[in-house]
Amino acid sequence: MSDKENPKTENKQTQSKSKSEKFEFQAEIRQLLDILTHSLYTHHDIFIRELISNAADALDKARFKSMKDEDIQDKELNYTINIETDDKNKILTISDTGIGMTKQELIDNIGTIARSGTSDFIKTLAKDKKDNVNLIGKFGVGFYSVFMAGERVELTTKSAIPGEPAYLWTSDGSGSFEIIPGPKNAKRGTSVKVFLRKDDEEFAEENNVKSTIQKYSNFVPYPIHLNREQVNKLSAIWREPRSAVKEEQYKEFFKFIANETEEPLTHMHLSADVPIQFHSLLYVPKSNRELMGFGKDDFGISLFVRRVLVEGHATDVLPGYLRFVRGVIDSDDLPLNISREALQHNPYLSKIEKVIVGKFLGHLKTLLDKDFETYKKIWEQHGRILKEGYTDYAHKDKLADVLLFNSSKSKDKDELISLSTYVDRMHEKQEGIYFLSGPSREALETNPNLEMFRVRDIEVLYCYDPIDEFVLPGLIEYKDKKLISADQADVSKLKEIPVKGDEKKEDKPQVDKQDADKLARRIKDILGDKVEDVRLSERLVDSPAILVGAQPGISSQMEKIMQMMDKDAKPPKRVMEINKEHPLIADMLQLYQKDTQSPVLERITNRLYDSLLLLDGFLTDPHEMALGQQTLLTEYTKMILQEKDKTPE
Ligand code: ADP
Ligand code: MG
Repeated sequence: MSDKENPKTENKQTQSKSKSEKFEFQAEIRQLLDILTHSLYTHHDIFIRELISNAADALDKARFKSMKDEDIQDKELNYTINIETDDKNKILTISDTGIGMTKQELIDNIGTIARSGTSDFIKTLAKDKKDNVNLIGKFGVGFYSVFMAGERVELTTKSAIPGEPAYLWTSDGSGSFEIIPGPKNAKRGTSVKVFLRKDDEEFAEENNVKSTIQKYSNFVPYPIHLNREQVNKLSAIWREPRSAVKEEQYKEFFKFIANETEEPLTHMHLSADVPIQFHSLLYVPKSNRELMGFGKDDFGISLFVRRVLVEGHATDVLPGYLRFVRGVIDSDDLPLNISREALQHNPYLSKIEKVIVGKFLGHLKTLLDKDFETYKKIWEQHGRILKEGYTDYAHKDKLADVLLFNSSKSKDKDELISLSTYVDRMHEKQEGIYFLSGPSREALETNPNLEMFRVRDIEVLYCYDPIDEFVLPGLIEYKDKKLISADQADVSKLKEIPVKGDEKKEDKPQVDKQDADKLARRIKDILGDKVEDVRLSERLVDSPAILVGAQPGISSQMEKIMQMMDKDAKPPKRVMEINKEHPLIADMLQLYQKDTQSPVLERITNRLYDSLLLLDGFLTDPHEMALGQQTLLTEYTKMILQEKDKTPE
């Protein structure tokens, strides 16, 4: 849009007052503006990046529209960004020949924020001003950054829709904005005129603006003219051979395409010719946006067709579990003139996707092998999302290669291993890869289910994330080894593996199996319907008893998940296993042998059962447990005191 000599006052004078409309900014925007104008003292130059990025988006949209043979206004205009500095009057103007805005779009797009999580974002911004300035653009509130440096903004815009007139939007960034009809001779696109604050007058100097553009906007795919001279290179580096691209350029391009300030953790530059043709350049960012409160729809791929951007944040190019990946995919063989809906079902695109996903997972595997520390960072940030890929059957094995777990052999909760490492060091007689879910390392280390594994030095993967309950069984096998939840393991098979070192057999009470069976039956009588059955345990070493699932194939953790999903569901029926070599069980047997109906045995049984429920995470009635406990303690103290009376020290 061409700038007039002095449009600053012209519009106000030529338009009658009645045509002017005043609007209040949405409350969130007022808060945001307040922070932007009053307390962000650094990084003011980012407003230039944000305005250029909006201009480039607007050009993408206009070009895409005309590519689809839709009629647009001022068709003859080139797609460019023009920037003018007026050092004398301290004005910076950034114009584009893009899609423009209708009056309603002006009100909707720059006046309200529709995105969820905005108020959280504003809170974070207010808390840690310095480091969060860079989030502004990512959060889709980039336009407002103009008020960091501008005391007043005049935005003239004319929509690409044929017949739409131009409008002039003005605001000083306090509470409201005004819209009046724009100049009759305005052309398609948007022009943002920034009247700079005293402290930000540097942005009216050509050299400062130039270096800012080169810092942030070098890769904008449209010519940027600063005072009529082109200042950016126009290179599609993803189309160049790998050998021609320098490491620095890769990093610089990432910062541009992902709107990031941090460097990426890794990148993959891949081009293919036959049977399908595409270029791709993918990156893994250092931090995960979902962890920062962005929605799950924050996909990071820009889809190009013959160098033309057809979709930023494309949701159908890579599977959802790679939504944290940022970058570009560009193909000459996709149709340009196609709707986004049709693109979703394009068979060619799904072939490209398949190749890229396979290669990308392979790239991660190589990184895992060569530079584990870096891969670990990727896992820590994005692993939670990556795991969702267990449902992608076609890439199951490659995904399994890059999963990491904490394990019983790790020295602490931060040490992680891959399934491949597990398989390499597993016992030759092991039936499969064992894992167990639990809320924490501490909980798993004391889980009675693992006692058998511990004494045999069998490694068990520790799973802390509920999704692992789906991921691991979902994989079924890894390198021909079955994935088995440790509480579902075949005890007789486990026993084929010898106990490590010598177990201190002597200390353990020797109880006859038949007697112990009788006790088990009495315990079942006492507990009645609460348990499915009571039997002697094969798996316990140090604990007196354990509750195990009555349904084969469903782990205890899975039962918990099912329980959570259905609030009305009764706690699942469990089988109680008792360890006849444990002193408590041996003593209970003695009580039983003295008096089969012993009320003390009854109470102890109930309390033992409560404690197992508690360990298992299914305790539903804490009152009964607590009161029972108190009765038991009363009895116990009484007994100790009576003992003392009998035998003085
Ligand atoms: P975002 O760019 O992330 O959507 P912004 O705050 O930067 O957030 O911009 C808000 C909206 O205002 C944009 O989505 C767009 O609809 C509109 N807009 C901003 N600048 C322009 C422009 N130069 N041309 C057309 N529309 C624009
Ligand atoms: Mg923007």
